[in-house]
Amino acid sequence: MNEPPEKFDVIVVGGGIGGVSLGYELSHDRSVCLLEQESTLAYHTTGRSAALFLETYGNAAIRALTTASRSFLLGPPEHFDTELLTRRTLLQFAARGRGEALEAMFEQVRTLTPDARLVTEDEARTLFPLLREGVVDLALHEPGSMEVDVHALHQGFVRGLRRRGGVVATRSGVVALERTAGAWTVTSADGTRRRAPVVVDAAGAWADSVAALAGASPVGLRPLRRTIFVLDTPDDVDTRQLPTLSDIDESFYLKPEGDRMLCSPADETSTEPTDARPDETEIARALDAIHEATTLEARHVRSSWAGLRSFVHDRTPVVGFDPNVDGFFWCAGQGGYGIQTCAALARVGAALVRGEGLPVDVAARGLDVADLDPARCAAPPHIVDA
Ligand SMILES: Cc1cc2nc3c(=O)[nH]c(=O)nc-3n(C[C@H](O)[C@H](O)[C@H](O)COP(=O)(O)OP(=O)(O)OC[C@H]3O[C@@H](n4cnc5c(N)ncnc54)[C@H](O)[C@@H]3O)c2cc1C
Repeated sequence: MNEPPEKFDVIVVGGGIGGVSLGYELSHDRSVCLLEQESTLAYHTTGRSAALFLETYGNAAIRALTTASRSFLLGPPEHFDTELLTRRTLLQFAARGRGEALEAMFEQVRTLTPDARLVTEDEARTLFPLLREGVVDLALHEPGSMEVDVHALHQGFVRGLRRRGGVVATRSGVVALERTAGAWTVTSADGTRRRAPVVVDAAGAWADSVAALAGASPVGLRPLRRTIFVLDTPDDVDTRQLPTLSDIDESFYLKPEGDRMLCSPADETSTEPTDARPDETEIARALDAIHEATTLEARHVRSSWAGLRSFVHDRTPVVGFDPNVDGFFWCAGQGGYGIQTCAALARVGAALVRGEGLPVDVAARGLDVADLDPARCAAPPHIVDA
C-alpha cells in the first residue's frame, strides 16, 4: 500500500538561487519542502554565473530589484556565515562612435545609481591600463559594483531554510502535479508523493515544462546559452584593483579573478533546457574582440563552462500566481540577473504568495506587481527584446 503523502504549506520545485531564496523567505511562517532533480543543488545556472552585482545592469525592473537587494547582501542575517559581497568596480565602455548610446544609458541609470559617472578615455585607461589607446569613445564607471560569493549566498539560504524546519530533497525531479481538494499532489521520479496547497515553479530553464505538468500555459521562456572562459593575466598586472570591463554592445566582458581573467563572449544562443556546454566558436570570436580592445595577449584557455540565462519577452522575471491554475506560483525568467536580484525578488515572491502587496522599499523604486505578473506573458511575442 502507498504511504500517505507528507504535507507542507508550500512545495518549491528547483534548488537554484530562485528556489532556495524564496523557500527561505517563505519558511519564516510556512512549512516548506524544496525538491531538486539533480544530486546537488545549484548544479545548473546558479553554479555557473559570473557572480557580479551591477546596479546599472538590465532594465528598470531589474535595476529596482538589484538596488533593493543590496542591503541584504551587505548585511545578511545569521544563517549566512561569511561576507557575501566584495568590492569590484565596473567600467563599461562605448567603442568609437557609440558614445551617445552610453550617454543615453547613463541618463536612465543615474537616478538609482547616483555614484555612477561618465569618464573619458584617459580616465578609463587609468582605471583599466590594459585597454588599448583609441578604442574608447566614452566610459561609465560604477564604483559601487560588487562580486558575489554565490556559493555562500546559496548555502546561507539553504541553511536558513533547514533551520526553520524546511525540508530539502535532491534527486527528486518532479514528474507529476495533480490538484485535488484544494491541494497539489507532487510526485517525484522515485515515486515519492507530497502534498501542498501551493507549488512554486522555480525550475529555471525548465519552468515552462514544470508548468505543463500542472496544466498551466507556458510563459514563453527562452533559455539562452552563455559561455565563460578563463585566461592567464600578464605577471606584471595587479588584478586586485582592476574593474570588471564590459563593452556596452556586449561583444565581451572581462572580470579579474585571482591572477586570472574570467572572460565571456556575452553570447546568447537559443537552446532547449539542457546541461549547457561552452561554445568554442564564440570563445574564438571573443578572443579576437578582447585582443582588439586590450593588450591581453593570452590565447590559451585555462578552463571554460556555460549556463542558460532564461528570459521571457520583456526580460523581466515572472513572479506571481498563475492567472488560470489555482495554487501554481511562478518564480522564473531571472535571465542574467538572478544572483544580484535574488534577495529582493524572494521578498517580493513571499509577499505575493501571502497575498500581500510589494515590499515598500521595492515599490518605492518604481516596480509594480504588473511588471512581474505571469498574466502579461499569456500571448508572449516571439522576440526577446535586447
Ligand atoms: C554565464 C552566466 C553568467 C551569469 N552571470 C550573472 C551575474 O554575474 N549576476 C547575476 O545576477 N546573474 C548572473 N547569471 C544569471 C543567474 O545565474 C541566473 O539568473 C540564476 O542562477 C537563475 O537561477 P534559477 O534558480 O532560476 O535557475 P537554476 O539555477 O537553473 O535552478 C533551477 C533548478 O531547477 C531544477 N529543476 C528543473 N526541473 C526540475 C524538476 N522537474 N524537478 C525538480 N527540479 C527541477 C534544475 O535542476 C535546477 O537546479 C549568469 C548566468 C550565466 C549562465
